Amino acid sequence: MELNKDIDQIDIPHAKRTYLNNPNSTLLKKLLIFYPFLFLIFSVVGLRFIRNVGLIPLNNLKFQVERNNGERILGHLPYNETPKEKLVLIEPNIIVHMDMRDSLLKMREEAKKDGIYLVFLSGYRSINLQNDIFYSLKSIRNQEAAERARVSAPPGYSEHSTGFAIDIGDATQRETDFETHFENTDAFKWLIKNAAKFHFKLSFNKDNKYIDYEPWHWRYEGSIEALKVFESSNRKL
Ligand SMILES: [Zn+2]
Repeated sequence: MELNKDIDQIDIPHAKRTYLNNPNSTLLKKLLIFYPFLFLIFSVVGLRFIRNVGLIPLNNLKFQVERNNGERILGHLPYNETPKEKLVLIEPNIIVHMDMRDSLLKMREEAKKDGIYLVFLSGYRSINLQNDIFYSLKSIRNQEAAERARVSAPPGYSEHSTGFAIDIGDATQRETDFETHFENTDAFKWLIKNAAKFHFKLSFNKDNKYIDYEPWHWRYEGSIEALKVFESSNRKL
């Protein structure tokens, strides 16, 4: 006890002296004085931030999360270019993946039996060709990349690069080629009813939130390789 008393007597004056003379302590004192003001400022800023976050529409947040999670660019998934040895020419200017050739030709034959004349507009497209299409058309139409991407995939992101996509028209109504009103043709109605039998599926339907509806664009999912290629797309949409 005796010893503790001595220490107290020594320590207290020493502590007081240090507190008063140390410039750091003066700063601390100032901080303590301003602390309530600082607290008030941070609280106001913090509350404003929370309120602003709360004001962002929920849909926007959802979209940002989805966009950041996927590896999409402007809504399109990446696709590799299919090696040349897997591609076959089925008619002038129409090249497709060898897995899909028989099924595609059979589908056209079956449609013909029903009086429907399908015409193939575009099959495999190299990444270079997609590059030309995407950038040249974008400039011609004076559209920004995001607008253009609603109707054409950026290079490296087109299903056409896989050889498993085919754009189809109605041979009796060529004015509907690549047009949304292709959906009113007999060819489209026939495809909706029958394409699945030949393992074809509409890629960009009306529900797609990133890419415009393309009733002419179909993809083949009738082989393991094709299913692997489109696995990511089928999982996310
Ligand atoms: Zn297409």
